[in-house]
Amino acid sequence: MERTFAIIKPDAVANGHTGKIIDMILGAGFKIVGMKLKHLSLKEAQGFYAVHSARPFFGELTEFMSEGPVVVLALEKEGAIKAWRDLMGATNPANAAEGTIRKMFAESVGRNSVHGSDAPETAAVEIPYFFAATELV
Ligand code: ADP
Ligand code: MG
Repeated sequence: MERTFAIIKPDAVANGHTGKIIDMILGAGFKIVGMKLKHLSLKEAQGFYAVHSARPFFGELTEFMSEGPVVVLALEKEGAIKAWRDLMGATNPANAAEGTIRKMFAESVGRNSVHGSDAPETAAVEIPYFFAATELV
């Protein structure tokens, strides 16, 4: 079984889409092995997205991610990393396929409703950034 890390971002939480997104996660056959509501500090957002620190949108991204509460999740399923990226849809909702979360809920390329780990090495860093081993079932 593979695990991946997911965030329901501040736009989706503020717009009232948390329950619908969790329902889509469960409907797609993921097991939720960790979940919490959290308001990230700017420093926590900067640490999480450190890999993007040289990008022109880093300031916009980290301010957005710390503007309101998010839901952080650890998800388990066979092929979880790709399956969650597929359910999320393309980064830019203008390019996202029908039926994907970003197509349904994202406001823009920046305010795009969900995050997902992009590789096993990323998931292995991102899950413990937010969850202690004792918080995973
Ligand atoms: P993904 O979240 O699909 O893995 P990236 O890792 O490339 O996408 O980017 C991380 C996040 O940075 C995106 O989800 C989005 O919130 C933000 N972002 C990416 N590209 C842009 C952009 N051109 N302008 C503003 N924000 C962006
Ligand atoms: Mg990414």
